Order: sequence, then C-alpha cells, then structure tokens
Amino acid sequence: MRGKFTLILGNMFAGKTEELIKRLRRAEKHGQKTTLAFKPTKDTRSGTGLLKTAEGDVFPAIDIPKGETFEITKKLKLKEWEIGKKIDVIAFEEVQFFPESIYQTIDYLLSLGYEVIAAGLKLDFKGEPFVSSTSLLGLVETNYDLLLLTSCCSVCGKEAQLPQRLVDGKPAKYNDPVEFVGGAESYQPRCHEHHIVPEKPPYA
Ligand SMILES: [Zn+2]
Repeated sequence: MRGKFTLILGNMFAGKTEELIKRLRRAEKHGQKTTLAFKPTKDTRSGTGLLKTAEGDVFPAIDIPKGETFEITKKLKLKEWEIGKKIDVIAFEEVQFFPESIYQTIDYLLSLGYEVIAAGLKLDFKGEPFVSSTSLLGLVETNYDLLLLTSCCSVCGKEAQLPQRLVDGKPAKYNDPVEFVGGAESYQPRCHEHHIVPEKPPYA
C-alpha cells in the first residue's frame, strides 16, 4: 500500500521544525513506529546529525552531503539493516535545499509504503518559490496533508510570509551573491509591506 505524505511549507521562524519533530515523536511514542530524519548539508564536513529548532530542541538526523538524493535510499537501507527492522516514517528537513530529484525520491519511497513528512521553506529572500519544496505539492493528496505556516513580521507583528535577508544590517539586493564572504548575514520574517528587495526587476 502507498504511504502517506505530509508537506509542511512556510516561512523562516514559523515553527516548521517544531512541527516536524512533534510528528516524529508522536509516531514513535504513541504509534510505536520507527522514524528516520534526513537533512541536507552544504558540504561533507558541516554535518551535525541533528534537526534543531530555533528554541534549541533537537532530534537525531542523518546528514546528506549536498542533498545527493541517491544517498537517501542507501542510508535508509543501512539503517534498517542496523536496527533489524523496517523504518515506518521518513522525514526531510530543509527540503528546499535538496536537488529537484527529491520529488522522484519521495514518490519512490511512498510507492514502497513508507510514510513521509517533508518540511521546508516555500519562498526565498526574493519572494520567489523554491522549486524543490513547492513542487512537492504534486505529491499531496488532500488539504489535510498540507500545512502552511507563517511567522510574525519583525517590523509590524502581522502575519509574515517572506524571509527578509539582511547583509550587515541592510536588505540584500535581488542579485546579491548567494554566499557572502566576510559579511554578517541574517534573516528576519517580514510581511509583504515590510519585505524589501532592492533592485528587484519590475514585473513585465
Ligand atoms: Zn510588517
């Protein structure tokens, strides 16, 4: 039987990781299910082996260097061999940073009967969709299996849909490089009114 898929999409500081960890703990404690969480890492060295909420709560996770999706099924089989039984629930954190082939990977896992929960950012700092996370809407079957989470605007406190990227305290420009060297970079949740992207090309 095909597994169930749940998608958690939202802004930064909206509680996506809390929601993911809550569901994994619930499955383990009350459902007596085995769980396994994956998260992407930028390179092969920066792995922490943990999902981490903004409040500091943690849950064990397997780091997938550069999000290489072929590593996922390999690591899953290895884990099942180690514990001597099948994993029931597979979670993906920061799914926007996996390659677009994460869609095919999750579709495949669902076809094998695994329950899958994926959490990730919906929009980038430009206010444009992340393909890897938003394409997963194609695997959602009912509106009960989709959670859209917002945060509070750091300026006015209203519902915040968008991540504001700041570099040395100033709004990052549309074409600023993805990775700054030497600059202090940070993010804040913002509403549409207070989300600023200098030099964003006008809609034509
Ligand atoms: Zn605002």
